[in-house]
Amino acid sequence: MKIYNTLSKTKEEFKPITPGEVRMYVCGPTVYNLIHIGNARPMIVFDTVRRYFEYKNYKVNYVSNFTDVDDKIIKKAVEEGVESAEISERYIAECKKDMEALHVRPATTHPQATQEIGGMLEMIETLIQKGHAYVAQDGTVYFRVRSFREYGKLSHKNLDDLEGGKRSLLVSGEDQKEDPLDFVLWKPKKEGEPYWESSWCDGRPGWHIECSVMSRKYLGEEIDIHAGGEDLIFPHHENEIAQSEAANGKTFARYWMHNAFLNINNKKMSKSAGNFFTVRDILEKYEPQVVRFFMLSAHYRSPLNFSAELMEAAANGLERIVTAVSNLNFLLEKAENAQLRAEEERLLEEAKEFTMKFEEAMEDDFNTADAIAAIFELVKFANTNTGADSSAAYLSELIDRIKELSDVCGLAVEKKEGLLDDEIEALIEERQAARKARNFGRADEIREELAARGILLEDTREGVKWKRA
Ligand code: AMP
Ligand code: ZN
Repeated sequence: MKIYNTLSKTKEEFKPITPGEVRMYVCGPTVYNLIHIGNARPMIVFDTVRRYFEYKNYKVNYVSNFTDVDDKIIKKAVEEGVESAEISERYIAECKKDMEALHVRPATTHPQATQEIGGMLEMIETLIQKGHAYVAQDGTVYFRVRSFREYGKLSHKNLDDLEGGKRSLLVSGEDQKEDPLDFVLWKPKKEGEPYWESSWCDGRPGWHIECSVMSRKYLGEEIDIHAGGEDLIFPHHENEIAQSEAANGKTFARYWMHNAFLNINNKKMSKSAGNFFTVRDILEKYEPQVVRFFMLSAHYRSPLNFSAELMEAAANGLERIVTAVSNLNFLLEKAENAQLRAEEERLLEEAKEFTMKFEEAMEDDFNTADAIAAIFELVKFANTNTGADSSAAYLSELIDRIKELSDVCGLAVEKKEGLLDDEIEALIEERQAARKARNFGRADEIREELAARGILLEDTREGVKWKRA
């Protein structure tokens, strides 16, 4: 399996630290608002990476944090006149609803920064003791960037170039850093902000330290994969590496994966440009599965453009798979022969090619676009090579294979046995219309069909009521 590693800028063979296990950490959102459709990209992409590893029988320990202490959260809390914890808890709950809708499975652990302050104080203390951090006069603790020789290795930046861009900050007397490159580990509280006590000052952590601490606590000092959107490469991930490797004296993460950005109609999404959409906004218009299919229709390292046309193409693509599975199920219900015939055995052997193509695509740095193309090929094969005389064993096997590969992509392509409320109501309406037209045969048929699927009708004076048996 090959993974593109931002560290080496090449695709590398994946070798887990412990055979058969994957430890991965994905930087999660800052929770001060509903998540936007761009935030959904890393969630869906790395959930799919996790699912693929599990499909290949790896045991995956997947950690993704919620940043619940931050300027934006505090600002929102002040605006609403509530505690900042109320804001973060509210948006964590909302984020989890969006994740569930998008079939993003909950992480093994979802740590929250405010619950891990003790670990942060410890790591900062270690960094001070090792000479990698220092306390300024006002109690701010800074990481001493030049003490970590490999700083810049992830973003491929040169320290002198970086410093050039920042010199003006020191000149303006911004703060008490030794060097303009140094970044904050701990900062003094401001009036009305949440704070924690420490030996340096009452204050709160800088943003980067939380991930170093939570990754170590839940996954160990060395992990396999660290991931997030490409905007996090610098400074966030560069700083995480500096903190973790300076504190632990070990390689922090072996593989660094970054997804490219999602744009809207070829423009960067922004509130001021009026093209900012939350996941909630999008789910009002599109099925969650269509959003997921759309996100996976491009390689994760390619920019992805959100547009009505592409969403329509995604809806059609998904429909092709769903229809095929439903047709196969229809044949299966009517199938007269149970046993696999020799010819079918040969066809199933032949169709293994599509599963192989799917795996090859996924193992080439998670090329989900090609993997989905392989599912389409399998679907086409199933459509062409099945019929009224197909055996139940053969049809079931084809259904299972399509479902298994779709499931790796987080797509549930089999319509649920039970009917949805809308579908029930549509059938009831049809029955009423049939009765009005004195077509009692059809009306009874609908009643029986509903009964067979566990829906009981009751004709009352106020109209037809229904309940699930
Ligand atoms: P944030 O809450 O801004 O830290 O973002 C949470 C995650 O979403 C990070 O991994 C970001 O890199 C990612 N992200 C933010 N905006 C976009 C976007 N437009 N497209 C893809 N990923 C994004
Ligand atoms: Zn992080």
